[in-house]
This record gives sequence, structure tokens and C-alpha cells, in this order.
Amino acid sequence: MNITWTPIQKQRLQELNASEAQREMCFESPQARDRAFQEQEHLLVLDGKQRLLELRDIKKRPSICLLEQQLVEALTKQGFVQVVTPTIISKASLAKMSVSEDHPLFAQVFWLDAKRCLRPMLAPNLYTLWKDLLRLWEKPIRIFEVGTCYRKESKGSLHLNEFTMLNLTELGLPEDQRHQRLEELASLVMDTVGIADYQLELTSSVVYGDTLDVVKGIELGSSAMGPHVLDDQWGIIDPWVGIGFGLERLLMMKEESQNVQSMGRSLTYLDGVRLNI
Ligand code: ATP
Ligand code: MG
Repeated sequence: MNITWTPIQKQRLQELNASEAQREMCFESPQARDRAFQEQEHLLVLDGKQRLLELRDIKKRPSICLLEQQLVEALTKQGFVQVVTPTIISKASLAKMSVSEDHPLFAQVFWLDAKRCLRPMLAPNLYTLWKDLLRLWEKPIRIFEVGTCYRKESKGSLHLNEFTMLNLTELGLPEDQRHQRLEELASLVMDTVGIADYQLELTSSVVYGDTLDVVKGIELGSSAMGPHVLDDQWGIIDPWVGIGFGLERLLMMKEESQNVQSMGRSLTYLDGVRLNI
């Protein structure tokens, strides 16, 4: 009973989003294993085709778009204002986030030319808006953005080169309420997505120093709070909290999927279903 899938079989099962039980199966002989592989692959292919038919006939939109819509509705209901900012940002705004030549994130940035890149994060734009909104609106200022971010990543089952970030921020809240507020915001997002039993863990980020991460086996989100050393650069003095989630990771967790690639922008997968079936 100790024969397991071959590496190629294992990879195919992962592509097809096999369940953990399917991926962990053991066999008496290679023949029994290969027979079982054919059966399991057949079942997964049928399931994928069924899901594609449902997409065409009923659902019409991929889960990532539906998730974004649910989050936008939940956040606007709680008084957060959605903003839409450029995906092309300046080298100077990255430097204001302390991301310059010797910074670990710098090597992950996609450069368009000497002065402009594709944003690896939403924070520089949100910091910029805060400064103007502080003049125009009273505090607290609650804004969020959902948008694509780009990072050169050595591929793995958790990292995409382009992914959808949700970053929600609240500026100008009482300093002693920051922790509690972050917990409330994390819970608002996790409840909306439908993920229970997550943890908040103190870790360290290359940009923000100490951050409170939202974790369930994998990192789903990272939060930070101010006053923060970066605030000076942006002319911000009020206390704030902010939390960023990757929508593909949230979806992967919710749907118990095996890889983040199947959830994101893809030509290989459509709404989580591998197309070579
Ligand atoms: P990790 O340590 O997992 O690489 P990170 O700490 O670099 O992530 P953050 O900068 O904290 O990521 O970004 C906030 C969230 O965005 C992460 O918690 C994760 O959900 C998501 N995210 C970050 N990078 C990627 C990526 N390359 N692909 C998909 N999602 C990502
Ligand atoms: Mg992080």
C-alpha cells in the first residue's frame, strides 16, 4: 500500500484541481495505480467540462469577478469609497515607499522605462490620494482599491506575475483603536469571502517592517498601521490602518484549489478549469 502517483500523474492531478484525498491515494501495485489514475483523471475531466458548461449557461462571469463585486458591495456598505488609480507608476513614488535599488522588492519590479514601472502594490497611489482627501474630506478617510499589481516572481503555487490586490485603508482614526479596527476589517473581508478559522500573525514585511498578517496555512493578507516611518515622505501625520489581500489567494482558499494560477488571469485556465481537458 505504499505506491503513490508518479510525478507526471501528480502534476496532472494538480492541474485538474484534484482534491487532497485524490492526491494522497496509495496503491498495492503500479498497475492498480495506473488504472486508478485513468479513472480519477476521467472524473476530473468530466467535472471540469460540467463547470465550463455552467459558466456558459448560468454563471457567465468568473469567480474572481464575482468575488470582487461582493467585496466592493460589502466595503461600500461600510462607508469605504472605491478608487481607481493608474497601474503605471513612477520610480519616484516607489522610492517614497523605500523601494529603491538595494530593496528586495526592487528586483521584482517590471520596468517600462527609466522612470516608470507597473505597480507592484497599491499603497503609493493610496498615500497620494490621502494627502488630497485630507484637505477635502473630514476624517476618518476610508478608501479602497481593487486592481492588478505586477511582480516578477519565480513561479510557485502561490505567486503570480500579475495578481489582483484589494487594499483597504482608514486614515484618521483614534490611535488606540488601530488594532481592533484591523481585526474588524480582516473579519469583514474574510466573512464576505466565506473563509473561517483564519489567524492574525505578527510578521515582518520588507516594506512596512512589522505587519499583522491574515493567515490560513498560507498568507492571505498583510496589514500595516501608522504613524509609520514612511508617512513623512507623504506628508501624513494621522494614525491609519491598511490591509492588502490577494484576491486569487482568497479564492484559492475558498474553493480549496491547488494553485493560484487557475484563479488568476490566464489562457490555460478558464474560471479555475484547465482548458486542456
Ligand atoms: P508573500 O510573502 O506570500 O510573497 P508578500 O508579503 O510579498 O507575499 P504583500 O506585499 O504583503 O505580499 O501583498 C499583500 C497580499 O497580496 C499577500 O498577502 C497575498 O495575498 C497577495 N500577493 C502578494 N504577492 C502575490 C503574488 N505574486 N501572487 C498572488 N498574490 C500575491
Ligand atoms: Mg505580506
